[in-house]
Amino acid sequence: MSDPDHWSGSPETEAELTGAAMRRRPRAQALELGGRTLSPATLMMGHGYDPALSEGALKPPIFLTSTFVFENAAAGKRFFEGVTGKRPGGGDGLVYSRFNGPNQEILEDRLGIWEGAEEALTFSSGMAAIATVLLALVHPGDVIVHSAPLYAATETLIGRILGRFGVKWLDFPAGATREEIDAVLERAKGMGRVALIYLESPANPTNQLVDIEAVAAARDALASESKVPIVIDNTFLGPLWQLPLKHGADLVIYSLTKYAGGHSDLVAGSVVGAKAIVDPIRAMRNTIGTITDPHSAWMLLRSLETLELRMSRAGENAVKVCEFLRGNAKVEQVGYLGFLEPGSRQADIYKRHCTGAGSTFSLYLKGGEREAFAFLDALKIAKLAVSLGGTETLASAPAAMTHLSVPDDRKAALGITDNLVRISVGVENADDLIADFDQALAAV
Ligand SMILES: *Cc1c(COP(=O)(O)O)cnc(C)c1O
Repeated sequence: MSDPDHWSGSPETEAELTGAAMRRRPRAQALELGGRTLSPATLMMGHGYDPALSEGALKPPIFLTSTFVFENAAAGKRFFEGVTGKRPGGGDGLVYSRFNGPNQEILEDRLGIWEGAEEALTFSSGMAAIATVLLALVHPGDVIVHSAPLYAATETLIGRILGRFGVKWLDFPAGATREEIDAVLERAKGMGRVALIYLESPANPTNQLVDIEAVAAARDALASESKVPIVIDNTFLGPLWQLPLKHGADLVIYSLTKYAGGHSDLVAGSVVGAKAIVDPIRAMRNTIGTITDPHSAWMLLRSLETLELRMSRAGENAVKVCEFLRGNAKVEQVGYLGFLEPGSRQADIYKRHCTGAGSTFSLYLKGGEREAFAFLDALKIAKLAVSLGGTETLASAPAAMTHLSVPDDRKAALGITDNLVRISVGVENADDLIADFDQALAAV
C-alpha cells in the first residue's frame, strides 16, 4: 500500500462518488525529498498517518471498535464491493474490524516500506500469517516444496495438518545447490501441482542459509502453466539484514513477535509482497479473521520507530559476544553467520543475500546437557527463555526445550545436540554481556 494513490484517490474515483461516500484519506506524505528516496528509519515516524484525521494527535490513537459507520448507504455498498473483490482495486473504506482497522493499515503501510513491497498484511501471530498464506495458496492434491529444517510449528502445519487434506510435501536441505533444488522440483512435479516453494533462511537452529537466487532460477526454469510462488520466512534477518524480494522471492513472511516487535511483549505476524499474491491472502484473512488486533498493531508502530536502532545495536553486540565466546576454552564451536568459512558455499550465499549476521546464534559447549544446563543456570543478565529478537538477551537449550519432541535421528542430522545453547543477543551493553557469559562459562 505504499502506492501514493492509495492515499490521494484517483480523480476518476472521486468524480464517480458524491463527496460523502469518499473516505477521508491521510494527506499524502513524501517518500522522497530533493530526488532522494527517504530511508525506512525516517518514514517509520509518520508514514501512513495524518494527525488532522485524529484531532491533531501526534501519535495515532488506538481504534478500539468492532465496526465502522458509513456516511451513507452508497458508501457502505462501495466499501463492501472493495472488501469482497466485486470491484477491483481493493478496500476503499473501513467496514468491520475482522477485515481491517486504522492501526493495522498504518502498520501495513510502514512494514511494506522496509522491503519496497507493494502490499503488506498483518496477522495475530507469525503462525497465523503462515497458516493463512498456506490456506490461500494450497489445494488438495498439491505439493509444497520446502527448505529444511523449518520452524517446528510450520513443519507440523505442512506435514501433519495440511496432510489431512491431501496436501503433500517434499524438502531439500537449506544449503542445497541449484542442481539439488532442480532434482527435488522435478520429483515434486511428478507428485502433483507444485503450489508453492516455501523457504526459511537462516534455518533454525542450524543457521544454514538458503540460496534464494538459486531457488528462483530453478523455479523460472520449471515448465509449468503459472509461475510457482516463492514464499520465505525472513524472521531471523529481516527486515534489516536480508531483503528476499530483491533476490527472487514473491512473498516474505515475518513473525513480528521477534525483531520487528522487539520487546518480547506481543505476538504478531505479517506478509509483504506484490498485490497480485497478497490479494488472495487478504481474502482468506477476511474470511477466517487472523488479523492482528489494534492494540498490538499500535505497539508495533512504536516498535518500528526504533527497529533500525535496536537491530543495529543487537548486531554489533553479537559480533563482540561471539568473538569473546569463540576464544573461550569451554566452547567447542560458535555457529554464527559472521564466522562462515571464507570461500564456502554458505559464505557465498551470505555475501550475495545478507547485509548483516544478525544477533541469534548457536553456542556449542564442550560436554553435553550437564554443561549446557550449568551454563544456562549461571546466567545473571541473559534470561533463560525461548524466542529471540527482543531488547534483552535470551538463552535456551533447543534439544531440551523447543526441539524436545524432534526424533533423535533427525535431531542428530540437524546438529541439535545436548551441548547446544541458542542465544539471541539484545541491546544491553556488550561488555556487561561478555562479563555475564564469562562468569557463566566459569561455572560450567
Ligand atoms: C517465532 C517464529 C515463527 C512463529 O511466530 P509466532 O509469532 O510465534 O506465531 C515462525 N517462524 C520463525 C522463524 C520464528 O522464529
